[in-house]
Amino acid sequence: MRIAVIGTGYVGLVTGACLASIGHEVICTDCDEAKIRLLEKGILPIFEPGLDTMVTAEMRKRRLAFTADVRQAVAASDAIFICVGTPPMENGDADLTAIDQVARLIATVSRSPKLVIEKSTVPAQTGQKLKQALKVYSRSAGTHLSVASNPEYLREGTAIDDFLHPERIVIGVEDEAAARDLKEIYRPILDQRFDCPMHESGCPETTKPEWLVTTINSAELIKHASNSFLALKISYANVLAELCEEVDANVDEVTRAVGRDPRIGPHFLQAGLGFGGFCLPKDVQAFLRLAERVGVDFGLLREVERVNKRQIDRMVAKIRQALWVIRGKEIGVLGLAFKPNTDDVRFSPAIELIRRLLMEGASVRAYDPQAMEKARTVLPGVQFCTNEYEVATGTDALIIATEWADFRACDWQRIHATMARPLVLDGRNLLNGQKLRALGFEYDSFGRPDLIAEKMSLAA
Ligand code: NAD
Repeated sequence: MRIAVIGTGYVGLVTGACLASIGHEVICTDCDEAKIRLLEKGILPIFEPGLDTMVTAEMRKRRLAFTADVRQAVAASDAIFICVGTPPMENGDADLTAIDQVARLIATVSRSPKLVIEKSTVPAQTGQKLKQALKVYSRSAGTHLSVASNPEYLREGTAIDDFLHPERIVIGVEDEAAARDLKEIYRPILDQRFDCPMHESGCPETTKPEWLVTTINSAELIKHASNSFLALKISYANVLAELCEEVDANVDEVTRAVGRDPRIGPHFLQAGLGFGGFCLPKDVQAFLRLAERVGVDFGLLREVERVNKRQIDRMVAKIRQALWVIRGKEIGVLGLAFKPNTDDVRFSPAIELIRRLLMEGASVRAYDPQAMEKARTVLPGVQFCTNEYEVATGTDALIIATEWADFRACDWQRIHATMARPLVLDGRNLLNGQKLRALGFEYDSFGRPDLIAEKMSLAA
């Protein structure tokens, strides 16, 4: 099958490159012409480990191509993956404008049968609207355009491994033919039989993924349900951390033991600045809006959101508690991306925190191993530094806002010597507080009150 991918962002680019790497002929397109021009030259507009090598290798093998002409990509394909953005609107609803535009374009251009696959995250019942749009705008009587949902579970930072070695592949279909075609597309991944491009850098030994066939509505709902549950786990850990601070317990000890229960699991129980990125915050909002629209009370999710927003307030309160007055202080921030191993700063708690600090009158210096370029465009008024040590120099406090392993590996003695006041506020519970205190730092984090130095309470 000839495959087109519409939307070459984090999901589309990984999807296109991975499908090419398992042997398909893939053409990727995007409405952003500048992005396509870069990609045609083998330059990636995003950072994702291993992706640049994979894209150039597949382009060389002529299995992966890029075009700015969306019509050409559509006309030249049998299966089309829609990977466009579905950002949140002011009211929390997912903005489906790009999906609608793409649907109309596919309908008007298509002269042969095609399978149109939603990979973007969309609210339940979007597939029905998509089907309707394809039908209404079709200009070629008898051209069958079928619709399927295939939600994506890749995580930025480990996207290639996630795509090629998933635990499950969910497809929502209405007819046998669509299920058959999708199974053919995913066959090498289902059988785990392909030359793994990441092998040398340690591809995981995984079992074969589960093939889950559902209705389109269920597939759409599964994605929102998964992400909302992950968000719920993070907010749960954050409330636990708050409680730990009040009763002198250690949240790391608590979540480690809680997570050992196989009914709960250890992941997404990390206390800190809360969740961000282009998935969890917007998917929780969109799921809530869907529930509201159909009259289901999902207040539980409102609480998840409320707890998450409170994490920034809690961090600002910790900073104020330590610094007494924030205005006029020099604050260093390590980490800008919403999580490590990506350059994505969309809805990053680090960005939100820096905006708050600037509003409070602090001077902010910042560094991130990958996200500097993207952060520069959204954070005027910040001094961007070339490394951790430059950030720390002369600061009154240093904040860990993203859990990059690089920050753990810093020479903390050297940092101690450069700071005006050696105070670390660890928004990701990344560092060993005891070690830092032994080096002479004042240190605070989330839910680990035993690690707070007495002299932290300057303002008390
Ligand atoms: P992105 O912003 O990185 O990429 C979207 C791309 O679509 C952009 O390059 C944009 O120019 C292009 N686009 C927008 N409108 C278009 C149009 N009308 N025609 C052609 N191209 C168009 O977004 P992303 O992070 O790749 O996310 C895409 C979708 O996948 C979203 O629905 C998201 O929720 C979902 N998703 C994202 C992730 C993730 O980790 N980023 C994971 C799973 C699912």
